[in-house]
Amino acid sequence: MIAGTEAAPSRVLASFRGLIGCCPNCGRGRLLRNFLKPVDQCSACGEAYGHLRADDAPPWMTILIVGHIVIPALLAVEQSYEPPTWVHLTIWPLLTLVLTLILLPRCKGLVLGLLWSTGAPGSERG
Ligand SMILES: [Zn+2]
Repeated sequence: MIAGTEAAPSRVLASFRGLIGCCPNCGRGRLLRNFLKPVDQCSACGEAYGHLRADDAPPWMTILIVGHIVIPALLAVEQSYEPPTWVHLTIWPLLTLVLTLILLPRCKGLVLGLLWSTGAPGSERG
């Protein structure tokens, strides 16, 4: 937050802005570039994000969510329709890939927004 410009957004609002890929501070600039790389600074408000490290949280969140979507769907389809194996080998890896590509940047934005809102340094080097 740049001192004296606006009140800091709430933790929920900052996390939501990160979730949709926007700057947690102002909501106007982009948070990520090149799919998963945080921008060094927001183009709209100048807030720095290049130092924040989300580490393994976004992949773990993505695995948790995708797993809870794909596995029950796979089991339901198998019990209801009993499709041949080639159908399973076509549908489920493709669905997993698509969901992962959709959710991973959103999870990373959410974690970065949450980190930023807590004031965490985001780096072990201080
Ligand atoms: Zn901004």
